[in-house]
Formats: sequence, structure tokens, C-alpha cells
Amino acid sequence: MTHVDLWPRVEPLLSRIERPARYVNREWGASHHPQAEYRAVLLYPDTYEIGQANQALGILYEKLNALDDVAAERAYLPAADLIALMREEKLPLFSLESCAPVASFDLFGITVPYELTWTNILEALDLAGLPVRSADRDDKHPLVVGGGPCVYNPEPFAPFFDAILIGEGEEALAEMVAVHRSARAAGSTREEVLRALATVQGVYVPSLYVPQYCADGSFSGVDVADGAPFPVVKRVVADLDAQRSPTCPIVPFVDVVHDRYALEVLRGCTRGCRFCQAGMVYRPVRERSPDTIVRDALAGLACTGHDEVSLTSLSTADHSQLEEVLRRLSRRLAGSGTSVSLPSLRVDAFSVDMARLIAGTGRKSGLTFAPEAGTQRLRDVINKNVTDEDLLGTVTRAFEAGWRRVKLYFMIGLPTETDEDVRAIGSLVWRVLDAARAATPPAQRGSIRIAVSVSTFVPKVQTPFQWEAQVSLEEVRRRQQIVREAMPRKGVDLHWHDADVSFLEGVMARGGRKVADAVETAWRGGAVFDAWTERFDLGRWLGAFEEVGVDPAAIANRERSLDEPLPWEHISAGVSRAYLESERNLAFCEQTTPDCSFTSCTGCDVCGDLGVDIVVGGVRS
Ligand code: SF4
Repeated sequence: MTHVDLWPRVEPLLSRIERPARYVNREWGASHHPQAEYRAVLLYPDTYEIGQANQALGILYEKLNALDDVAAERAYLPAADLIALMREEKLPLFSLESCAPVASFDLFGITVPYELTWTNILEALDLAGLPVRSADRDDKHPLVVGGGPCVYNPEPFAPFFDAILIGEGEEALAEMVAVHRSARAAGSTREEVLRALATVQGVYVPSLYVPQYCADGSFSGVDVADGAPFPVVKRVVADLDAQRSPTCPIVPFVDVVHDRYALEVLRGCTRGCRFCQAGMVYRPVRERSPDTIVRDALAGLACTGHDEVSLTSLSTADHSQLEEVLRRLSRRLAGSGTSVSLPSLRVDAFSVDMARLIAGTGRKSGLTFAPEAGTQRLRDVINKNVTDEDLLGTVTRAFEAGWRRVKLYFMIGLPTETDEDVRAIGSLVWRVLDAARAATPPAQRGSIRIAVSVSTFVPKVQTPFQWEAQVSLEEVRRRQQIVREAMPRKGVDLHWHDADVSFLEGVMARGGRKVADAVETAWRGGAVFDAWTERFDLGRWLGAFEEVGVDPAAIANRERSLDEPLPWEHISAGVSRAYLESERNLAFCEQTTPDCSFTSCTGCDVCGDLGVDIVVGGVRS
């Protein structure tokens, strides 16, 4: 096939826009196979600087390029200045590697990272010259496939995708490509291709699941096409060690959000925080072995030339052999000017020891702790198994060891929260400040800073709190005021997650397919880059909901009864509904559940149902 090269049309525009280097190809590590028989383009629905750091896309890019006669390229959403010029010049969205029109590829893969990128996805489809709805696309269009962390309630964006992969993509994406190629070789129609894709475990084809409604407009369930799986169960990789991380990932020309070599050291988290969707949907815990981690970290640093390796996961300090990994890396990297960083640390003494160890590699990692709630009662409700003493002890050790700044994460609006719980956030920060001062020599106390970040709880699907009401906007503002009044003024930097944004996230998180009409209406009305504070406009969204007849407050701020059908129940993350309900009951009894990685199985069913095991300390159990 002859491929169109749009570079002669792109290049003249680069002198008229900001940061042109982000649209220029041939970064170190990029793949070029323009003549491959099957071509896929993977898009992150935000600008290059944000998307390039996405590890999952990097993994899938490498996996696809390793397949026989398959080429994967990348695309990002251009910034507003280039979008305006592209629309003026009628220039379609292009891939980075071969500067080919995205619409000319066989597969257009789009990651769905979080709710506020949905309008960016529509912008990308439209810029590519593709109809934004799957129902309006035909055989001449690429297969538009979604995936990523935000797919566990796909309904509010389902009509925009031909297929959505639920779960981990390392093995599933190759299977999808194989099915697509053979279906096309057999001369299948688009509908036949989609039906064939639905046979791949983890693949959700929205057109095969039609939502049904009662006379009053409320959701009553889905009508499933013959032969389509119900529920669609997520894909999970059983042996993470066997799936090697990219050790020669792309090195960008421009500064990106995480400019370092990132290596995933474990997947999943079984601590069981009841509000945390990632903790539920990425189960079970699978650790990479120390040998694999050290080997790949050194290989990745050597290939990329980065001077920092970040050991990533949902909770890296939970890796059972992290200390060994850090000791071996410190030894191998000593004197090289290369540092090791951990993205976040949990609230215990072990974490400070880890932080001291990595400080020896050259740089002091920031210390970030997430007590989430101000009282022990509420921490028991959400199953955050840390105490005030854990936090204060950790802060004392950190400041004795020379740290002068810590960051604390809290949430307001959690189920059962009272004003006393909210006020206690301020009291706890006072005590942290006192502990930090006591552990710091008097001459240095002026440099103590406690950054406090307070977000609003958004109930997420596939968690024990998926039935709960999100507190209203007015109530959030009242509770924010309580926090403000209870907080120390000096030495503390207080940050809020915007309440309006949390409200919209709440609507998107648990909305049904009708919400897709509002997403499209908001986008047609100018909503794009909603995650950028200066672009976010709740008024525009409320207008869109009104126009399509959807009440956003009835989605976000309403408690569901346990017998109400939920719009996402044809999607399963593997954790049983019985477990979610039992965890919900325990929450209201203020009882905690231990971490199954370190005790025994607590019965979430993911291991048995998906045929996978927890892998901790090199042992499958
Ligand atoms: S099935 Fe048991 S061991 Fe496996 S993740 Fe769930 S609680 Fe843990």
C-alpha cells in the first residue's frame, strides 16, 4: 500500500506554533516500519508532553512492533494552536513516525486515562476525519479500539468505540490484531469483524450490548446480542516477569511530565482501600523478581541515557523485596550520578528507610503520604490501615533524617463522614507540623513545609462504594471551609482538587450510555482539554446535560439501592459483587479487612475466577 506522507504540509506550520519539537519524529527508540502489512496507531488523548510518559502505551507500542509484519506508530492530540491551523488547512490528524493520516491505519488504538479526556477523544477522531460514533463508520475506516484504566464503566463513551479492551493489553492486543487480520483476509464485513473480536476474552464490543430503559427512563439492564459474552471479564497477565518491560523506550526531544526511565516493579494492590478503583481492578498483586528489576533498570538506563530510574506501581513500597532491589541498584549505580526514585510511599517506618536508601543514590525523593482521612474511625470505614501513630512516627523519622518537606493527601466527602472527621484533618496536620518541628534542629525549622492536598471523594464503579452518593457541590464547599478553618496557617501549603471538576468526574464515573450524548454535545459546544483548569467550564457541561435530558445530580449525588441494575454490570473486573457488598457492609460497621498479599485470601474471587495467582516474593500463592 502507498502511504500518504503529510510532512510537506505539516512542516510549514511548525514555525507558527509553540513547541514544534513535539510534532517531529525520529526520537531515540522510535520504530519505523512503514511498509508493514498491518499498521496500528496508538493515541494518548492529550498533548505529547503528557502522553509520552504513559507507560502502558509504551509497552503496547513495543509489543505490537515485535509482531510479524505489524507496525505501531504514535499520535497525540495537538495543542490548541496547531489544531486551529490544521482545521484551517484541512490537515488531518497524523501519526508521529511516518506522518501518515491516522485514518489510513488499520487500527486506531486510544487510551482512556480518565474521565476528563473524553472530549479530547472526540476531538482526535474528528481531526482524523473519522465519524465520532462507531455506528457511522464503515469498512473504509480503521478499527477504533479503546483501553486503559478508565474502561470499567465504558458506557458514557461506548458509542465512540468499535471495541474496548477491558484489562491488561500485553497479550490481548496481539490476539485482537490476529483476529482482525484473519477476519479481513477472509473478506469479513465490519460487523463480522466486530463479532469475531468479541470472542477475544476481555474485548467489549458496545454495539452488541444495547441498554434498556423503563417507562420512566431509568436503566433496566442490557440486551446482549446472541453469542456475545456476559459479563465481559477483564484480561489479566498471569506472569508479569515473562512480559519484559521496554528497556529501550522512546527518549523524547522535549521535556515531558516524567522525564526519566520508568520501570514497573509490580502490578496490582491488595491493601483493599474501599474507595480505590485501581486497587480493585488491577488485582491480584504480581511482583517482578529482583533479578528482573535490576537487570531491566540497568538496561533501560544504559539504552536511554536517563539519569533517573523510577520504580513504578500502585504502591512500590509494598514490593516484598524492595529493600534488596534498592541495595543492589545503589551498589551498581554508585558514583554514576544516577538516582532511583519511588513515586509514592506508604505511611510507615519502612518507607523512610527506603527513602534513606534511595537518597544514597544521589537525590532525595519527595515524601508523599496518603492518610486520606483525619480520624481512625473514618480510616477504618475506608479500610486505610494506617494510624495517627504510623504517620507521626514516619514524619519524625523523615525529619530526623533531614527531610524538610512532606506532602499529605486527604479526601473529604467519604461515606459516613461527619464534621468532626473533617475538622480532624486540620488537627492531624497540626500534629504532623509539631512532630516535624520537634525532629528538626531549631535553626532549620523555618524551612519546614507540609503540602496538604484535599480532594473530594468520587464513588467509583467496581468498588465497595459504587452504590454511594457523592456529596453535593454545596456540601463540598461547606466542608472545604471547615478544613480551611482547622488548618495551621504557617508552614502549610493547602491545595484543593476543584469541586466542580470532582462533580463532573462523579457524573462521568457512574453514568450510563445516555451520558455519551452529553459528552458529544459538550464537545460540539467547544469542550476540549477539560482536564486543563483554564479550559474547564462546568456551565458548558450543565448546558449539555440539559440539552440531552440527563440529570447529572441524579447520577452523581444519589445513593443506589442494592437491587437497582447498574449500567456497568456487564463488565467485570474479576472481583465478585458478593465481595464488594460484604466490604461495603464491613465499612458501615467500621471493620477493616487485611491485605491478602501478606495474610490469607479474603475472598474477592479474582484469583480463582481468572485463573491467576498472587505473586509475592517470587512465590505464587
Ligand atoms: S482472590 Fe483472594 S488472594 Fe486473590 S486477590 Fe482476591 S483476596 Fe487476594
